[in-house]
Order: sequence, then C-alpha cells, then structure tokens
Amino acid sequence: MSTNDTTAKTWRPATRQLHAGLERTEYGETSEAIFLTSGFVYDNAEQAEKTFTGEVTHYQYSRFGNPTVAALENRLADLEGAEACIATSTGMGAVSSALLSHVKAGDRVVASRALFGSCYWIVANLLPRYGVKIAFVDGTNMAEWDKALSEPTAAVLLESPSNPMLDILDIAAISERAHKAGAIVVVDNVFASPIYQRPLELGADVVVYSCTKHIDGQGRVLGGAVLGRKDWIADTLQPFTRNTGNAMSPFNAWVMLKGLETLSLRVDAMARNAAAVADYLADAPGIVSVRYPGRPDHPQYELAKRQMSGAGTLVAFEVEGGKKGAFAFMNALKLIAISNNLGDARSLVTHPATTTHSKIDAAERATLGITDGAIRFSVGLEDSADLIDDLARGVAALKAL
Ligand SMILES: *Cc1c(COP(=O)(O)O)cnc(C)c1O
Repeated sequence: MSTNDTTAKTWRPATRQLHAGLERTEYGETSEAIFLTSGFVYDNAEQAEKTFTGEVTHYQYSRFGNPTVAALENRLADLEGAEACIATSTGMGAVSSALLSHVKAGDRVVASRALFGSCYWIVANLLPRYGVKIAFVDGTNMAEWDKALSEPTAAVLLESPSNPMLDILDIAAISERAHKAGAIVVVDNVFASPIYQRPLELGADVVVYSCTKHIDGQGRVLGGAVLGRKDWIADTLQPFTRNTGNAMSPFNAWVMLKGLETLSLRVDAMARNAAAVADYLADAPGIVSVRYPGRPDHPQYELAKRQMSGAGTLVAFEVEGGKKGAFAFMNALKLIAISNNLGDARSLVTHPATTTHSKIDAAERATLGITDGAIRFSVGLEDSADLIDDLARGVAALKAL
C-alpha cells in the first residue's frame, strides 16, 4: 500500500474531504477500494502471534479494524482536526460508546436537556441502571451549568445546535466549567456538521457524529463516528467498541467516503436554501415563529455567529393551530417529504411532538419549547424557489383551517 500525503497541513476543508487518509493499493485505484472482508490471513503462525502481541501491525478482524473503515476514520479525523477517530455502526453507537466507555458506577454525568430522543434516553434511562448519577440542565442557562458542575463530574453531553429547536450552547464556556469539575465534554455535532463547527477548538474533548446525516447525506446507510485525543480513543474507547462489537461495515464506510467528497458543497448549498426558506416562513401568514441560527431574531444569534462558521441546514418553525395546523401544513406539501431523518439531499419535515420526541412527557416537551405546532425542517438541495412554492401550499392549508 502507498499512503498519500495526509499531513498536508495547509489543505482547506474542501481538499481534505477528498484527499485525506487515502491509502492506495498496488493497483493505483482512483476511488477507494472496498475491503468487504470479515477477516484477514497471516503469512505464517509467527506473524499471527506477533500481530496479537502487538509487535507487528496487521489487520486481524473487521470488528477490530478494516482498511476501508480506517480510510474513513483517518479522513474524518483530518477534517475535524482530531488526533484519532473510531467509526461505529450508527450515530447512537457513537454516543453510547463514548459515554459508556468512559463512566463507571458512582460517576456523575451532566447533560443538556435538549437532546436527540435516543441520546436523552441513554442519559435519562440507561445510565442510572448502571449506577451512574445524572443531572439535566437547560443548556442555554449558564447558571444551571455552574450549579450542576459544582460537584465532581465524569462527563458532560451536549448538542448544539440542538434537536429540534436549534438552541445554541456556549461550548467554550461549558467546557471550561466542565474541566474544572473533572469532566470530559462530549459534543454531538450532527446539526452543525464538521463544516460549520469545530468543538475541539472550542475546548470540547470528544466529538460524536451520526454519519447517517450530512456525511452520507443521501439517505443510504447508517453510521457514526467518535473523535478525540489519541490516548482516550486508544485506552478508553477502543477496548469498548472492539469488545462490544460496535463496528462500521466496510461497505457503509465506503459510502460515507463518497459522501464526504461533496460534504462542504452540499452543506453550503443546503444552508443557503435554509436561510431562504427561513426568511420566507418568517413573513408568511399563519407562522407563529421561526428558528434559524442565521437570523438575528434567533435567541442565541450572537453566540451562533461567534461559534459557528455557518448557520446550518435545519430550520424549526411553529404554525398556528397546534397539532391540527402542523398536520394540515405537512399534508399539503407535495415536494418536501415527511420523514424523521435529516441532513439528506432531499428536503424533509417532521413533527417532533408526535414522532422523534413523542416519548418525552408533555411537560418536558414544553420546557424544551417543542409545541404541538412545531415542525422541524431539514432543508435539502432542491431549488429554493421550488421549496418556497411548496411551503406556500402549507401556508394556504393553514389559511383554510
Ligand atoms: C440522528 C442523530 C443521532 C443518532 O444517529 P443514528 O445514526 O440514527 O444512530 C444522534 N444525534 C443526533 C443529533 C442525530 O440527529
């Protein structure tokens, strides 16, 4: 195998997402090879023995490592500015492994309340079963962080922008407080993508992705990734993922590598569309409020501007008429599909109160600002004029109610 120059420090993200971490085989293929193999063979018994003692570097088994998966891990680490990366079977595999590998019974985890549904479940329901103490805070309220982090803490989990209401959390300020409490800071960076937010530079220790979202970005395969310092990945995370079986399929890794090649192009085009539809919705009749981190009326607009290099591809808005209004709006759409996925090239809307966040009790949903009229809009790559024409169908349906 020949390795290209992955240490090209001057490369910009658009170049990194195409070239970083590529290892060509002796055949000189242009596109990465797919090593669709579960195991690997040794030249002799001695080589096998030395591989297991660590004297020789050789792939052993694809649950432990695979060349196609390694190419993705290297490229993601390069793009993120992280020392190391482990790819996982799904985004939830990434979140659960990052937390479960790090904590033990008696430890404490503090999390922002506004989390993706399954992330919330892990903190609220799973961790306490294993004797981990938990505390939730309103992530936008620094006084709540101060209070929660006044005791020794093992890990902090947060999401910014948050799902679905796009709260922006101050990653630098939270990380500073978390470190004083002895915690590592795990940031779920799915909504921003590696293109618009660099949590490690803001002081976070670990970044997790659902690669299912913008990184594949074309609705094909599931995957996740955990990024962080080399020693933490090697000593804490890797034994956990290897032994619990949280490995990404080489095929999925290859699809993700293809997705990464166009990540910045897609995310930039989707974000331009998101800004355009947010402006349209803000002035449309029947729309109670619009949340987009790139609009000055977003409650954390200044923080978003400071912390992110782009406002993202998601918009949240509330329609008049509660659930009835939201359903009428969504059912009137002809181009924009109803789906709880996000980050896809195709525009998708979901009603969080009855889908992604339906298992959270109503009082908690209200605290999170997820009203019955709230719709989450993952803005795709279509022509923004066509998206606005479609949204106008929803607006007309509200008027007809
Ligand atoms: C989708 C998502 C996840 C989970 O990822 P999967 O690949 O579906 O397991 C975690 N966090 C956020 C913010 C997400 O959007």
